[in-house]
Amino acid sequence: MKQICLLGCTGSIGEQTLDIIYKNPKDFTLIAVSCGKRINILKEVLNKFNSIKYACVSSKDDKEALEQEYKNITFFYGDTGLKEIIISSKPDLVVNALVGFVGFVPSCVTISNDIDLALANKESLVVGGEIINDLLTKHKSHLYPIDSEHVALAKCLEDKDRSLVKNLVITASGGSFRDLSRDQLKDVTVENALKHPSWNMGAKITIDSATMMNKGFEIIEAMHLFHFGLDQIKVLLHDESVIHSAVEFKDHSFLADLGPADMRIPISHALYENKRHEVDTKELSLEDLGSLHFRKFDIKRYPCVQYAMDAITLGGSMPCVLNASNEIAVYAFLDKKISFLEIEEIIFKMMHSIPNKLNPTIEDLIECDKLTRKLTLEEIERRRK
Ligand code: MG
Repeated sequence: MKQICLLGCTGSIGEQTLDIIYKNPKDFTLIAVSCGKRINILKEVLNKFNSIKYACVSSKDDKEALEQEYKNITFFYGDTGLKEIIISSKPDLVVNALVGFVGFVPSCVTISNDIDLALANKESLVVGGEIINDLLTKHKSHLYPIDSEHVALAKCLEDKDRSLVKNLVITASGGSFRDLSRDQLKDVTVENALKHPSWNMGAKITIDSATMMNKGFEIIEAMHLFHFGLDQIKVLLHDESVIHSAVEFKDHSFLADLGPADMRIPISHALYENKRHEVDTKELSLEDLGSLHFRKFDIKRYPCVQYAMDAITLGGSMPCVLNASNEIAVYAFLDKKISFLEIEEIIFKMMHSIPNKLNPTIEDLIECDKLTRKLTLEEIERRRK
């Protein structure tokens, strides 16, 4: 029986993690959850899982109101609360399904307390992959990725001789605007951007898929998770999102992981410590599917992937600049304050105006994140005048 602390229980990954936990009561007990502002959904979770003893929310007001209603639960709030809930609940596994930089410190706290980490929060590895890897060598914790591409790669690499690996091939659907030219991207709307062709996900990651920053992040995550260089990581456009990623070996054969586009499969794999387990999902019929399609990935069409590759090549705090400027720009696009193509323009500008700090500490990255957010917001305001 594994005791679980789920950070970000009201988001898309959070909800699907709850489904896996609920359907496997012999294997998992949910003891702690966090959420931001969706208090009504949190209440549903607290009512459904009476094993929950700890909960964390964003605001102090919400915390105080909930304390009146749920006398048997210990509540925390804010960024400090996210650390406290991990330390107080002492789970066997933290599932980090937070969105954005806010997930980075909780990942570090989890590993530093010798607790296993199932990681859906990409930003932890994008921003602080070296710090996370360093902590993993010093502590007993294991890291289990949740992203579909990385779970696919882990399956393909399992028990293989790494020296015989030629390339890791990360597949990409191309996002909601994959069939539009650069020129047609000028006037696209938020509503159109939110229609992803194959995956049903949260708003932030759906926009990151449309700009392909998501794929840029996944390249960086793959480098940190599997310890291959940038030159051995390739992106392949694949329309159907059936092949979740592949490994090409030096004998020119491939191993690929195929399956339905259902995040509960990779979530289950992570919760079961990188092992397969039965998952209740619609099966994939290859006969009905008939064919799979692949296209060459054109990096000029998706400059955000280039920026991500530049950021990881520069190293230091530059991936943090990349991530923070992207977060602010994506939310500004969702708020209809900037156009779709301004997202990449703003990221480019921030990466070329904020100095890089090599070998950053956790505190350095927190500072860099704050500074980048401030400068990005100023840039957005300047453009709106
Ligand atoms: Mg992914």
